[in-house]
Amino acid sequence: MFREYDLAITMNKEKTALAQLAEISHEKVAVSFSGGKDSLVALDLAYRVGIRKAVFCDTSVEFDETREFVKHVEKFYGMHIDVVRAPVTFFEIIKHVGLPSRVLRWCCDVFKFGPLSNYAVQESLHSFITGLRMKESSKRASYENSDRNPLVPVIQTNPILTWTDQDVWEYTSENRLPVNPLYEHFKRIGCWCCPFKTDNDWEKIKELFPEKASFFEGILADYANRMDIRDKETFIQKRGWKMWSNSVSKISVGLYSPCQTQRDKVDLIFSGQSKNQIDRIIRLLPILTDDYFLVGNKLRITIKDIDKRRLNVLVEKAINCKACGACTSLCRTGGLKVDQGSVYVDFARCNKCQDCLRTHPLRGACIIRNYSPKVATLVNS
Ligand code: SF4
Ligand code: SF4
Repeated sequence: MFREYDLAITMNKEKTALAQLAEISHEKVAVSFSGGKDSLVALDLAYRVGIRKAVFCDTSVEFDETREFVKHVEKFYGMHIDVVRAPVTFFEIIKHVGLPSRVLRWCCDVFKFGPLSNYAVQESLHSFITGLRMKESSKRASYENSDRNPLVPVIQTNPILTWTDQDVWEYTSENRLPVNPLYEHFKRIGCWCCPFKTDNDWEKIKELFPEKASFFEGILADYANRMDIRDKETFIQKRGWKMWSNSVSKISVGLYSPCQTQRDKVDLIFSGQSKNQIDRIIRLLPILTDDYFLVGNKLRITIKDIDKRRLNVLVEKAINCKACGACTSLCRTGGLKVDQGSVYVDFARCNKCQDCLRTHPLRGACIIRNYSPKVATLVNS
């Protein structure tokens, strides 16, 4: 009796979800599929109303079983699932920015929102269908059936927002959906080295994937040495790294100096690795101004009509950039790109809105600028 009652609730929720999905334009939506049970239910509901577009964002630290499962789901539905990735891998970028933790959660910006936002712009999407559910975290409790994430340029349609775990499993079993085999061992899947993994998850990873566990312990040991963390046992074995908040190491590069002769101009003076830095700045500078010129190692910029805080952000973005791609999610036109190790602007697509220089919602307008920055000081600001 109890089970029948629960099933009736699930069926009502199912009808509501199908009705919500039936209302949205099918040409301009894609399911954001993670390889987990919730987004698979969202994919199945979307498939039932005729939606045939889905995307999987490979964070570079997915379990191989999840990648295999995505291929299996493609075959199950007879439909292609696009795969997107950030321009850097997790283990490349942590050399520069350090480890993400529960306190320093920059990794979703780089490995999820950046690639998915670029995909949305490229495919002219209007909405992503997600498997988000309220029960997953207190933050998600504030989400609505249809809402916006400031780091994704499209609406998020969340058809199973109010579903419980039990609703999801019942739907999966009633409809004989495939199940990612990792659910045999983990309650939640996601990236294998996510700081939100529980201690039990880590014990399982040690048991099932010992090579991954020992590789990661090596990374933690290197990091602990680099950051001069004395209590390595707490940091590594007791997993203190999950709550780690590293102190930001500011290196002032002192690029600016006031131009002596003309008060509305500023000289950026470089030495050493300067050519590369000048090139990087010039690749972004027309967002703010075309009124600049280069004399030897001096880049002279007319600052009269420029918001100087934005000029500072622009210069610091340019000199800090490690081409992670996160900030490209701030650009609604697809004009901000990464190439040759740094960010640049395709001015044929740029409307000079300056969104990519805003320090919110992407922390400091650049992940590296925020967490491991080289700081330039505008002397006459
Ligand atoms: S100024 Fe606006 S349109 Fe141009 S690259 Fe930046 S965010 Fe994109
Ligand atoms: S400017 Fe910063 S956020 Fe943007 S791609 Fe470069 S490192 Fe990433």
